[in-house]
Amino acid sequence: MGSYIMALDQGTTSSRTVIFNRAGEIVSSSQQEVKQIYPKPGWVEHDPMEIWTSQIHTIREALRRANLQASDISAIGIANQRETMVLWDRRSGKPIYNAIVWQCRRTASFCKELREEGFDTRLREKTGLVTDAYFSGTKLKWVLDQIPGARREAERGHLAFGTIDSWLVDRLSGGKAHVTDYSNASRTLLYNIHELRWDDEILQRFGIPPSLLPEVVPSSHPVAFTDPKILGAAVPIAGIAGDQQAALFGQCCFDPGMVKTTYGTGCFMLMNTGVEAKRSGSGLLTTIAWGMGREITYALEGSTFIAGGVIQWLRDELRLIRSAEESETLASMVEDSNGVYVVPAFVGLGAPHWDPNARGAILGLTRGVNRSHLVRAAIESIAFQTKEVVDCMVHDSGLGLTELRVDGGAAVNNLLCQFQADLLDIPIRRPKVLESTALGAAYLAGLAVGYWRNREEISANWSTGREFIPRMSRDRRRKLLMGWEQAVARSKNWFSPDLEE
Ligand code: ADP
Repeated sequence: MGSYIMALDQGTTSSRTVIFNRAGEIVSSSQQEVKQIYPKPGWVEHDPMEIWTSQIHTIREALRRANLQASDISAIGIANQRETMVLWDRRSGKPIYNAIVWQCRRTASFCKELREEGFDTRLREKTGLVTDAYFSGTKLKWVLDQIPGARREAERGHLAFGTIDSWLVDRLSGGKAHVTDYSNASRTLLYNIHELRWDDEILQRFGIPPSLLPEVVPSSHPVAFTDPKILGAAVPIAGIAGDQQAALFGQCCFDPGMVKTTYGTGCFMLMNTGVEAKRSGSGLLTTIAWGMGREITYALEGSTFIAGGVIQWLRDELRLIRSAEESETLASMVEDSNGVYVVPAFVGLGAPHWDPNARGAILGLTRGVNRSHLVRAAIESIAFQTKEVVDCMVHDSGLGLTELRVDGGAAVNNLLCQFQADLLDIPIRRPKVLESTALGAAYLAGLAVGYWRNREEISANWSTGREFIPRMSRDRRRKLLMGWEQAVARSKNWFSPDLEE
């Protein structure tokens, strides 16, 4: 058996490869950007061949940097940008259209149609998801409807559908395996997360031939070997999960009630709810965290559209800071935001408000407000939004929270983490290795081939880089939350088409 595990993290903006050792430490990594294609307003695509060539480039580069051969790798795990889909010809292995990216809004009108006929309730019951263009099933329907000959070829069994995990496994295995894991299947809007099967009623309504669909496999399971022609050795591909689920696993949130938050451009929170699929009354998603054998672990998921993105805005549009790091330096120069609230509802508000017509607002300005106060208020807005989603999770799951594990680009901001701990009144724990997504994919793969024996061994690898203990008084917390609530109320329902003209 090789001495290392390789994780492929195929994200929206880049393909990455990270090689880990048994202690869960990074041995080497490589990254290459992926071109974003915007054919029309609101449409987003990637070139699937570029996804593949960039991924394979980073695999070779990561091996080279660590002076390793493919035979030194015990297993490969894949974490992927979720909901992005590819349709390819099984005979040639060639995509018949670009990958349609999760952000793409082209199927919004079909989703509206589904909602108007009340089919969204069925979808919610069966898939745990809301009826939105975000998920991959309606994108697949679009390709079948719009690309000449696609439906005919699909009906003849010549085409294969997959999210990016499926596509990479197909390429790596030389076309030998057509699979996806439970977590990715649960993001298609086509998969019944309770009965664990592609749902006939949904497939019929969408007009999707079942022959297109991949076999759904456990998230930690050897599914195929890499074609020796590609890497020079047959390495087992043994772990697959959507990136947010992989991060939950990488953060070792193995027990019900454990939550991880990834502070990236937006913010993604997942709560492990154990073997029970909890239904949400606040618009959170019910989804599959991972499947081990036939045992499924479910999760509640909530996200905020803008998190670290508000820091980019301070830097690139307002030019209040030169770098993201400077936000912490500036904000630390003042005790508080001086009564200022920034509501970064640039693209509306998600859970629990769900107001697409909300717009950003800065409230509470007085003459003494300076740059530091504004920057501080922007950082605080990330924590306020997270607090709201966490409250929904606790409410919907009935599970208490004892700590929050954080990762992502903005998690390096100590002021953010401290303020988050203060608002939630629980400790925030930031791991030493912030690469939770890649680590989760590596753990899933390593467990499947016996590189790691069990979850206990993996949990022992998780070590706190820094812990933030709440130290705010109850009264102060209450006042701050009240202020935030008022600020959000004022940002809601701002946009109307009349304003646009
Ligand atoms: P994504 O995966 O969405 O591209 P990343 O996890 O790479 O995001 O994180 C990038 C985000 O983190 C950016 O929005 C950036 O503004 C934010 N960020 C980076 N460093 C800091 C910092 N020191 N303080 C606050 N935000 C930061």
